[in-house]
Amino acid sequence: MNELSERFDTHDPGERQVAEKLRCDACPVMCYIAEGRTGACDRYGNFGGRITRCDPVRVLEHSAEEAAAVVPFMAEGKPWDGRLVNTRRRFVSAIGAGTTYPDYKPAPFIVSQEVEGVDLVTVVTEGIFSYCGVKVKIDTDRHLGDETAIVRAEGEAVGHVTTGEYGSQMLSLGGVSHLTGGSKSEGRVTCKTLLDLCNRQAVELTIDGGASVVVQAGAAPVIDGKQEHRMRVGCGSATIGMFATQWRGLVDEVVVVDDHITGVVSEHQAGKVLGWEDTGIKILGRRSTPGRYFKVSEPGLGWGGTTISDPLEILGEWNPKKGARPGLSLLMVSTTGEQFAYYELDDELKPVRKPFPDRLRKSVDLIEDNCEPALCTVLFMAGAGGSLRAGVTENPVNLTRSVHGLKTYVTCGGAPVYIWPGGGITLMVDVTRLPENAFGYVPTPALVAPIEFTMRRDDYLALGGYVDEIRSLDDVLARGGEYFNERRIAGSPPGNPWPPLAQLRRESGR
Ligand code: SF4
Repeated sequence: MNELSERFDTHDPGERQVAEKLRCDACPVMCYIAEGRTGACDRYGNFGGRITRCDPVRVLEHSAEEAAAVVPFMAEGKPWDGRLVNTRRRFVSAIGAGTTYPDYKPAPFIVSQEVEGVDLVTVVTEGIFSYCGVKVKIDTDRHLGDETAIVRAEGEAVGHVTTGEYGSQMLSLGGVSHLTGGSKSEGRVTCKTLLDLCNRQAVELTIDGGASVVVQAGAAPVIDGKQEHRMRVGCGSATIGMFATQWRGLVDEVVVVDDHITGVVSEHQAGKVLGWEDTGIKILGRRSTPGRYFKVSEPGLGWGGTTISDPLEILGEWNPKKGARPGLSLLMVSTTGEQFAYYELDDELKPVRKPFPDRLRKSVDLIEDNCEPALCTVLFMAGAGGSLRAGVTENPVNLTRSVHGLKTYVTCGGAPVYIWPGGGITLMVDVTRLPENAFGYVPTPALVAPIEFTMRRDDYLALGGYVDEIRSLDDVLARGGEYFNERRIAGSPPGNPWPPLAQLRRESGR
């Protein structure tokens, strides 16, 4: 993207030069492109004297196995004859389709096909999204930064830390303020960061006052150079609840160290129910309810997401009047089971670290076994409720109503999306469910994401669709589109159901 400014010019550089170039009108940048060159976004080029979409439009073919999975074994009293049906069901995705800019134009492809007796129309376009970003979930207990802390890439602010979730830290990146509301460099870096994350590339982020983290969708996070392996099994209290029975009879006291809630088995309700005896332990933290303590430390990269490297730091004096005695045994463990230590009280009632006993090994392994692998999840979020809708219908609000009324099924590169309730078409999609490299950008700056709207043909006509622009699937496959699209047929990523016949049939009352 650094070279982009050299490669496009939105101003007429002179009559003679303009005449030799073709103008791409697929986004507001309106590049003049010389023969054999591409425009600023590399998505369009001038080849053979015509503006061409450089990437092929990807047609997704649903596998035979997927089709076979819905064949009824007995239908109308006759057993299934073993033939696979619809083994070559094809879906024209918006990846490589081209955009609708300016939006009064119909979408690049409006495709009809009949599936199992249902006449479907799919409106296919690459949307240009200035209002977009990603929500990143990083499975780790480690403290990445305070809530609202600025997240940076290449030194530029690209987002912030948002509320932590159960076992995960969350980032909110991108958005229109960073894309277009700051400096040119901030917008450029934000756009590149979003593009890389959406296309499942690794991105290094730094958090003001916090850690640096390498994030890649579907991969483990790397925090301050250390790869995270496990997500915690639960908070300290939940860990006590899950494993109290495993420790009964093997050790006198267990403390599960956690930044959020540190658990103490002898005081916890789970321990009480099991008849655990008092030990006279004292936790240096804010007691919430019996056996559950907040704020035993500051958040950090140590035990259980605290700053602690020596867990004894969170213990006060042991009270002999409440059960403390020489020889009393103590297990301290983190919420992932990665850190653990065993102690016994000496004659002065001071805990002394001892070799870890075999009898407790199984319970610690069990915590570790119950931890899921730590991953980064990237959800692309965008508002498709604006002028993009005009590429679908002459009356845009009809599309919004149709989507919210479940008559129109929205996908991103064939992947199912979550549509937020309320106004507009605000969607979220897991980027790992899209085919690879499905996202692009334009230097306005904005992200380009594939989006498809599938509905029954009669519903499309009812919402004021571009009837004259409807083309059969075969015709699209044979001739491509306005931008001379090459076609490429690829397997659909597994688990992306299409078409949504159950939804569309149910809504139609058929
Ligand atoms: S940035 Fe890309 S889409 Fe926009 S005008 Fe230039 S080549 Fe066309």
